[in-house]
Amino acid sequence: MRITCPCCGERDYGEFSIYGDASRQRPHMDETDFETWYDYVFIRPNPKGRHQEFWQHIQGCRQWLVVDRDTVTHEVYGVALARDVVTLPDPPKGKKGGAK
Ligand SMILES: [Zn+2]
Repeated sequence: MRITCPCCGERDYGEFSIYGDASRQRPHMDETDFETWYDYVFIRPNPKGRHQEFWQHIQGCRQWLVVDRDTVTHEVYGVALARDVVTLPDPPKGKKGGAK
């Protein structure tokens, strides 16, 4: 499988590490609900087919990427810098602000 890093160009997937589903949103740092954190940290879906994943170019620029690919065919549909496509979560209800 080949991944086209936005910074370095096309590379073999062995230069990257996968970090899982990019569609899941990390809870806000002020979140105190145990179940919310448990689900985020330990419950891992294993989707079949096209979906988005976090990858890091560990043997290149070390940038975090969101790779849109098919887990069955390994076809890559697109790659973007994670910082350009990931949004930060809202604080939990009933709390103000949070880390800046
Ligand atoms: Zn790179």
